[in-house]
Amino acid sequence: MKYSDDITLLKGVGQKKAELLGKMNISKIGDLINLYPRTYQDRRTVTPVSDAVSKDNVLVKAHVIQVVKSGYRPGGKRPLNVIVDDGTARMEVVFFNAKFMQNAFKQGEEYYFYGKATKDYGKVKMVHPEFTPSDKGVFQGIIPVYPLTAGITQNDIRKWQKEAFSCMECAEEFLPEEIIRKNNLCSYSYALKNIHFPDDVTKLKEARYRLVFDEMLLLQTGLFALKETKSGKGRGIYFDRDVDPLKFINSLPYELTNAQKRVVKEIMDDMESPDVMTRLVQGDVGSGKTAIAEIAMYKASECGCQAVLMAPTEILAKQHFEGVKRDFEPFGINVGFLSSSVKTQERRELLSRLESGEIDVLIGTHAVIQPDVIFKNLGLVITDEQHRFGVNQRNLLGSKGKNPDTLVMTATPIPRTLAVILYGDLDISIIDELPPGRQKIVTKVADSKKRPLVYDFLRKEIEKGRQAYIVAPLIEDSEAVSDLRSAESLYEELSKKFKEFNVALLHGEMKQAEKDDIMNEYARGNIKILVSTVVIEVGINVPNATVMILENAERFGLAQMHQLRGRVGRGEHKSYCILITDARSEVSKERAEIMVNTDSGFVIAEKDLELRGPGEFFGTRQHGLPDMKLANLVKHIDMLELVKEEAKRILEEDPSLSDSKYDKFRERMNDMFGGELTLRM
Ligand code: ADP
Ligand code: MG
Repeated sequence: MKYSDDITLLKGVGQKKAELLGKMNISKIGDLINLYPRTYQDRRTVTPVSDAVSKDNVLVKAHVIQVVKSGYRPGGKRPLNVIVDDGTARMEVVFFNAKFMQNAFKQGEEYYFYGKATKDYGKVKMVHPEFTPSDKGVFQGIIPVYPLTAGITQNDIRKWQKEAFSCMECAEEFLPEEIIRKNNLCSYSYALKNIHFPDDVTKLKEARYRLVFDEMLLLQTGLFALKETKSGKGRGIYFDRDVDPLKFINSLPYELTNAQKRVVKEIMDDMESPDVMTRLVQGDVGSGKTAIAEIAMYKASECGCQAVLMAPTEILAKQHFEGVKRDFEPFGINVGFLSSSVKTQERRELLSRLESGEIDVLIGTHAVIQPDVIFKNLGLVITDEQHRFGVNQRNLLGSKGKNPDTLVMTATPIPRTLAVILYGDLDISIIDELPPGRQKIVTKVADSKKRPLVYDFLRKEIEKGRQAYIVAPLIEDSEAVSDLRSAESLYEELSKKFKEFNVALLHGEMKQAEKDDIMNEYARGNIKILVSTVVIEVGINVPNATVMILENAERFGLAQMHQLRGRVGRGEHKSYCILITDARSEVSKERAEIMVNTDSGFVIAEKDLELRGPGEFFGTRQHGLPDMKLANLVKHIDMLELVKEEAKRILEEDPSLSDSKYDKFRERMNDMFGGELTLRM
């Protein structure tokens, strides 16, 4: 049995269980081994029944004295009462609706029970405990609790884990000896054993340290390796130093900010060097990234190369297209547009003009990576990511040229230390300055009692001709989150309250075309109030929108609220962001205060990470990086430094990791990056 073997090789995992595991993204043995416990239960000591009543769960080991099966009750519920005794006292174990376990207990046998014991009319009672015969299964000790899916039990996973990680081949060491020694790591097999079934807390810590180290080292080495192979020293395009973008820059209706000037210089240096540029431009909403992209595309095109700009949504791509086309017209630079909505005939024509080199600059959605999109001479690739594209798509686009220079633009500010990891395969430029004269968006906090006032204000703005966004954190009212004002119910309420205005609903489960329609109507001013889930985050420029209301604001991340707030204040009118929240906790208050007092996305990002942890950035797969199972790039920031050095040293010593001592390590890394690295190493 190997790490990469199919999960069905495990005893007890048949086709049906395998399917269920598939839902948890577990298809190989290795996936299971990397499913780490969510938490642990301390079941090291057996508690005598006489002492069992407590506010915590306890482990009891007792013999069954009597099994009392009750008859059917109305509704088909058939409770089961099991009287047990451990020599210190008796306890009644109760299962309601126990149709399927009438024969689970045998009189006279000994069982473990884990649950909460209460006192009921002088009797010790335990309702619905976990249990197992005392001679079977994994029950005593520090017991792992795994995330589950319906149809799979804790005991299933515990059993499978034990079998999987005890297998020699799966637990085989993959780090070279000297790295283990130098960093005082425990062995891989020791780490696996103790992350799943720790003997004690110290060993659990050692195990966790080793596994977090592994994850970060694999990630960091992989990213550095990607960067190394992409930046192919001397293999890139040498853009002519004598082509000065100043002619274009002077045509812009404003002067570049100092931050923009600095970033332009960094990009020009990259473009003029024969190395391949792989650069990230990070700038707050409205910091003027588009102008930067235009300057780079101007340079490329004046040097006789084509450029492509890929945006995450059709609307954004269209918006870029219109702006860029207007700005490039005076220079005779031809700009084309491509998305899935471009019709066959038009598309065919466009593609042929692209291949012949007649089109200098192509702007579009991910439609631009389709295989039949062929450039004559692609020299510059720009992706406007906002966390939507992964490394893969970026590279696919790059492969349409001969080592073209690459720019990645993102509007989500990330503290620098983290950006180094998250975009470890890129150099980083930061636009940390907004154009002058930007008006500050007034941010206010209101509790739900103030909602009528908020709506009065909203009405006044709309009567003035302005537009508004109202964002709710979830789509549907569900029982679990009844306190959330969902977008749907909010929409219904508001369309009644604002009957005379056009109110629309936008959410993530709508078809793309439907979403685009609504956004277009909103952009044209035909829709006045847009109720939405966070889908508008990757949004659009509607200068006439002046009000952003965030419902249940405590549910949003700070960085997310900042992004949303950036949708208003884009025109000449004074703009407002209103956070509606009834949350009273210290953290909620602090968050609201930060939003009211801070308008720098970078400061907000730092605070967000401090307050919320990295979930915002690392809890989702949107960033296009491999999943981290244990590593928390914020919490483990110190280790990150260590790991960065180690990764650099490894690649300096052996850039292609070709020494046999790295065989297993390389395999793991490829596994983590879904095979992407194999292409390049
Ligand atoms: P983002 O960084 O969010 O993509 P944009 O590039 O869309 O920002 O720029 C936002 C607005 O600011 C645009 O209307 C753009 O014309 C304007 N802008 C960009 N740079 C400057 C500048 N240096 N001075 C004044 N306005 C600028
Ligand atoms: Mg932009």
